[in-house]
Amino acid sequence: MQNLWNSSHAEKLVEDYAAKGVGRDLALRVYTTRLLGGEPRLVLHGGGNTSLKTRAKDILGQEWEVLCVKGSGWDMGVIEPAGLPAVKMDALLAARKLDALSDEDMVAMQRANLIDAYAPNPSIETLLHAFLPHKFVDHTHSTAILALVDQEDSEPLCREVFGKRLGFVPYIKPGFDLAKAAADIYDADPSMEGFILDKHGIFTFAQGAKEAYDLMIEFVTMAEDCVARKGKKPFVSVALPTALAKPAEIGPYLRGAIAIPEGEERFGRMVSDFRTSPKILDYVNAKTAEELATRGVSTPDLSIRIKTGPMVLPAPEAGKLEEYGETIRAKVTEFSARYRDYFETNDARDDVKRTMLDPMPRLTLVRGLGLFGHGRSLKEAKVAADCGEMLVEAVTGAETVGAFHPLALSDLFELEYWSLEQAKLAANKPKALSGQVMLITGGAGAIGTATARLFAAQGAHVVVVDLDAGKAEAVAREVGNAAVGVGADVTDPASVRAAFDRAVEVYGGVDIAISNAGAAWQGRIGELDDATLRRSFELNFFAHQSVAKNAVRIFQMQKTGGVLLFNTSKQAVNPGANFGAYGLPKAATLFLSRQYALDYGPDGIRSNAVNADRIRSGLLTDEMIASRAKARGVSEKDYMGGNLLGLEVRAEDVAQAFLHQALAERTTADVTTVDGGNIAAALR
Ligand SMILES: [Zn+2]
Repeated sequence: MQNLWNSSHAEKLVEDYAAKGVGRDLALRVYTTRLLGGEPRLVLHGGGNTSLKTRAKDILGQEWEVLCVKGSGWDMGVIEPAGLPAVKMDALLAARKLDALSDEDMVAMQRANLIDAYAPNPSIETLLHAFLPHKFVDHTHSTAILALVDQEDSEPLCREVFGKRLGFVPYIKPGFDLAKAAADIYDADPSMEGFILDKHGIFTFAQGAKEAYDLMIEFVTMAEDCVARKGKKPFVSVALPTALAKPAEIGPYLRGAIAIPEGEERFGRMVSDFRTSPKILDYVNAKTAEELATRGVSTPDLSIRIKTGPMVLPAPEAGKLEEYGETIRAKVTEFSARYRDYFETNDARDDVKRTMLDPMPRLTLVRGLGLFGHGRSLKEAKVAADCGEMLVEAVTGAETVGAFHPLALSDLFELEYWSLEQAKLAANKPKALSGQVMLITGGAGAIGTATARLFAAQGAHVVVVDLDAGKAEAVAREVGNAAVGVGADVTDPASVRAAFDRAVEVYGGVDIAISNAGAAWQGRIGELDDATLRRSFELNFFAHQSVAKNAVRIFQMQKTGGVLLFNTSKQAVNPGANFGAYGLPKAATLFLSRQYALDYGPDGIRSNAVNADRIRSGLLTDEMIASRAKARGVSEKDYMGGNLLGLEVRAEDVAQAFLHQALAERTTADVTTVDGGNIAAALR
């Protein structure tokens, strides 16, 4: 592994922090923590920590010996001094004299001795850092080290590779007991430069930031060399069908099958993130992949992200998707039964009250294709996929060296269901639309933007579709929550199909489709040329049908219901003079909505329409408002508020109606009027 220490970068950071009153040691601690945290082969999503022993002043100006140790919730790759909370050393050292200390008491003691009461919780491995005498202590879950420690005979192998330079600490769950055991091992031979933590990772320590970092890279490189030296081909590949289906073709089947049942046809949906590479393919195609998946994960804290390991699916043959959908369902049933069994067996071992987490996989390996990470948000799905990639690295290494023999599932269970981890998960409540994917056409218009914003705020991932790709992307950036913008002409069925394909590529599927794009043409109906009327039908009727058809196709693959929402108009029920070209296709679209409600209700698919009027938008521009108000001899305000409530109806009001219809689980074939009250256009 390349050593990335760069003296001029380090000195520059020391200088920058000095200007902010941060001392040299802490600045260097930040520097090497970032170097370690920036390398996924060392540290992944919270799996590692660093510390510094120094002095710090409290609010009263009193100076203390402290341990600045990585705080919970901070990413090492982008850490700041605030991410290394200072804890009083006296208290931490006093803990070593105790015979036992519960996790909860340990956390409370550490918090009670923070210099800054508002600082994040110090790492769970704080005591281990404190019990060592060195100024700088570094800890990672290096994949190359894991290849060596995830072996049945890991101790002799580590001795052979590292000699006496690294101590060997048998597996103990992180916390007080591990800290004490490791400190005793260090005290027995203070010449050691670090520890191997069996089935878990590596510690290095030194008086200087550079020295501790150098040691980490040196030992990791020794482990990498050992893997390379063994040189045994780790996997034999299974035979694959000649033509494979594409990842996006199986995405919705997979996503539907792993949706978490929440009773009454309700689902906790997840999105998926797909990855592939030659290394991933070697692993997922291995004859042993299924069996390896049942052994466990390469380092225990991965269980918080990907449970006991991945689900493995056979290769999908091109053109046989329906059957493959059934295969996926059978595999998911198998996976969740095994997970339930794992929970029940291990839960029964003591009297602790635990609630089983959902039994669905967070990582799926698909032979021939690659891997999918799954999560209640795209961010979570990407984290799961990152963990999958590092699992592949570590297990491939372990199988090259010998045989992958990770921590036993019974020990893994203790970590996955650790009270501290469970509390963290419980605090992370999903939003109303978390894990759901919404696609909206006319997404860059006034109503489109307001709706995209509102749905994203409720946790949905939004696909903003607009004729203008640039505007669609700009809206997607503005609404956030990993939204994507897609350019599409909704009157071109191939273009609509491509927009849905993109949604499936990015998130794995679609749950809510809002067919919103539209435009108005005017003229007395008897004098209207056919071309204009047909053009309006293309956009104001057929495009809605294209969107609905594509959405239903995906909904049927997922088998988790789905929602179709249409933007019809007042014109659909109450024609305006010279507005036939607009009203006629909109009336047809209102019936289209009801037809879908009727035909697909039995599949749990709902279909509703919003009947909006007089919204300031691309259809009703500021200039049009000004000229119409003038023509009627009223103020713009009175023109826009010309309804029973006397209030202008905003795009946000239409967005609210769409949201209501998306959430109302027992509402279908509904038309919601958003017009401030118009008796002539009221629905019978
Ligand atoms: Zn660790």
